[in-house]
Amino acid sequence: MNPQCARCGKVVYPTEKVNCLDKYWHKGCFHCEVCKMALNMNNYKGYEKKPYCNALAPLVLAETTPEMLELKQGSKELRPGMESPPRPSHRYSP
Ligand SMILES: [Zn+2]
Ligand SMILES: [Zn+2]
Repeated sequence: MNPQCARCGKVVYPTEKVNCLDKYWHKGCFHCEVCKMALNMNNYKGYEKKPYCNALAPLVLAETTPEMLELKQGSKELRPGMESPPRPSHRYSP
């Protein structure tokens, strides 16, 4: 049985599987949450179980310092705007 992609929810086959952040991803789905840059096991930065690129991870982390900690105590939600909808608006179809 194959796991589902954490990004798109479709089945991930072993040939395209990336196992990171306790989840499985398609190679193509494993990209930065913010800028969508393609990532791999060697260059991603994980935060809140989501992958970020080297350039943006420090910003994401910086923004989550005091205010975010307060927010987190009251709510499990990440700040709005960071959470993008799971399905992309357009995709390349074969
Ligand atoms: Zn996927
Ligand atoms: Zn990025």
